[in-house]
Amino acid sequence: MSEFPTQAQVVIIGGGVGGNSIAYHLTKLGWKDVVVLERHELTSGSTWHSAGLVGQMRSDANLTRMMHYSTNLYRELKNETGQDTGWREVGGVRLACSAERMEETKRLVGMARSFGVPMELISPNQAKDLFPLMSLDGVIGAAYTPNDGSIDPTGLTNALSIGAKNRGAKFFTNTNVEKIKYQKVGLASVKW
Ligand SMILES: Cc1cc2nc3c(=O)[nH]c(=O)nc-3n(C[C@H](O)[C@H](O)[C@H](O)COP(=O)(O)OP(=O)(O)OC[C@H]3O[C@@H](n4cnc5c(N)ncnc54)[C@H](O)[C@@H]3O)c2cc1C
Repeated sequence: MSEFPTQAQVVIIGGGVGGNSIAYHLTKLGWKDVVVLERHELTSGSTWHSAGLVGQMRSDANLTRMMHYSTNLYRELKNETGQDTGWREVGGVRLACSAERMEETKRLVGMARSFGVPMELISPNQAKDLFPLMSLDGVIGAAYTPNDGSIDPTGLTNALSIGAKNRGAKFFTNTNVEKIKYQKVGLASVKW
């Protein structure tokens, strides 16, 4: 483990998927002096028990852009870092059980084209062919996105941290942040 630095360009508190993703992306943007502080072990917060489902189309354009970007990243992360993320591009089915949800689904399918996401409307029976365990009760329509998938949140977090470490980020686990001291001018100083 590296020596505790007395200062850093950026200090990230928390080694869940959020903190690791910030460290990964800052170092990718060329930031060299990035420190991550985690009070227990990486991914010991809520990240490790998240379901890990990755659906790209959201009702908000920025979230959709982010999920589309994430899907492309998840496809490549193992090659870059050597860490298996458990990414499985098994496709995703979105069900509509009300007229309003159907309307929203149709709108999403239209929007998907502008993001380059191959989402298409399918019938309830086609949805059942794709996922035989589902019940057709109340289902009036569906949409299918073949390149949605699922990922292991712990593997993903570890891969992001390896990518960040490879570009110089420093990680300190079992390091609880106790205080953040704000100064009038400039950045906050953090006590750990
Ligand atoms: C693939 C994937 C799909 C997801 N899909 C969904 C979804 O569909 N819907 C949804 O709602 N959510 C989803 N989530 C989000 C998930 O449920 C969690 O909300 C998310 O993982 C939280 O990440 P985090 O880094 O913000 O927090 P955490 O994983 O909780 O990380 C915070 C870390 O900070 C550390 N910490 C706290 N205090 C201190 C301190 N004082 N000093 C040092 N360290 C400290 C904790 O120990 C912890 O490790 C998804 C997540 C993933 C990875």
